[in-house]
Amino acid sequence: MNSAKNALNQAKLTPNMGLKHRNTFGLDAIAELAYEITSAEQLPCLLKELRSQNPVWRVLGGGSNVILPNQLPGATLLMNIPGQEVCKSDEQNTWVSVGAGVNWHEFVAWTLEQNLPGLENLALIPGTVGAAPIQNIGAYGVEVGEYIDSVEAFDSVEQAFVTLSQAASQFAYRDSHFKRNPQRYIVTKVIFKFPKTWKPRLQYADLAKQFNHSNPLPSAKDIFSAVCQIRSQKLPDPNVIGNAGSFFQNPVVSNEQHEELLKQFPNLVSYPDSPGMHKLAAGWLIDQCGFKGQRLGPVGVYEKQALVLVNHGGANSTDILNLAKVIQEKVMKTFQVQLEIEPNIF
Ligand code: FAD
Ligand code: NAP
Repeated sequence: MNSAKNALNQAKLTPNMGLKHRNTFGLDAIAELAYEITSAEQLPCLLKELRSQNPVWRVLGGGSNVILPNQLPGATLLMNIPGQEVCKSDEQNTWVSVGAGVNWHEFVAWTLEQNLPGLENLALIPGTVGAAPIQNIGAYGVEVGEYIDSVEAFDSVEQAFVTLSQAASQFAYRDSHFKRNPQRYIVTKVIFKFPKTWKPRLQYADLAKQFNHSNPLPSAKDIFSAVCQIRSQKLPDPNVIGNAGSFFQNPVVSNEQHEELLKQFPNLVSYPDSPGMHKLAAGWLIDQCGFKGQRLGPVGVYEKQALVLVNHGGANSTDILNLAKVIQEKVMKTFQVQLEIEPNIF
């Protein structure tokens, strides 16, 4: 009995695992020791063992927001924890508990089948549920943190399971407490809270255009379908051409810098942000520098969306970072704005 339990608590280990199909850039990386994590209970023992041997380790979800080197030394934890269920409901809200390894888009589709609207604007974002809180994924004016009640994780510093509330998770624009403390938390489960009142969020131009004066208002399922359709037209499918979505974050600048830029570039694409700040569309800055559709060796700038770098085949992390540097330098020279890389560089 005990040995059966122990076996279940052991993460499956594969030495020298190829990760080409576990990262959306399609980079040919080899993980020295790949552990498949299918249950939270596997983590305490494994982390203790890794700590005693002192190898480096990192967590990998679906690999849609990472740049992998050719060799990943030490341990790579592949987060495959399954499971999703409605765990509580009252007059105002419904709570849903989801394993870190569940596919994000399939989860969003499932919530709509359960008549739990809210996440429809975040349809078709690749990756896992466990990674969603890390950069507080967002699209079309909705951020996942708005719907997260709490996050369950193994804290590798305290060597204990912890539950972080929405407030403790400190969600911000493509940022969170987890992202600011890399290598500390391994997210095992996310608890979502869906309010029973719902209103469509259509402020982004592409959605507003699609549902212009719609009467009655679109349902969450209508918005889900529209988001899938719009994204499929604009973004490269990682199964066809390797990419990690937006490669740079949208820079947020002071109102003074924004005013100066507007004088020089009256067509600047920007949006009011937090008080005193403006968000610039990084894609527009890159496009203005003439990079759209350009190539440098095996990598390039996607021809339909300048914010996306693509792997035309056979690229490695150095090729990608070289092109990123060229873009950053040109944007800095033209606009005096620093572009920060969004994907995590391993
Ligand atoms: P990975 O890429 O595997 O990991 C990302 C980071 O999270 C790494 O640092 C990793 O260590 C950490 N991590 C992963 N899982 C865990 C865990 N369980 N515990 C602790 N740390 C973990 N992002 C948006 O915000 N909005 C978008 O609209 C969007 N669109 C995209 C479109 C495309 C075509 C692509 C390729 C990417 C897009 N992204 C977008 C980026 C990406 O999909 C998200 O960041 C996604 O949440 C990453 O999930 P993942 O499971 O692939 O994480
Ligand atoms: P878009 O709608 O063409 O807009 C271009 C940029 O302007 C976006 O980056 C967006 O910022 C900003 N923007 C547009 N309308 C806005 C508004 N009403 N208020 C505030 N900001 C506004 O963008 P897109 O390229 O087609 O992408 C659509 C959505 O999917 C965006 O939210 C984008 O972030 C998201 N997306 C993210 C990734 C990724 O990897 N992170 C990849 C693809 C798409 P925001 O980015 O802050 O929303």
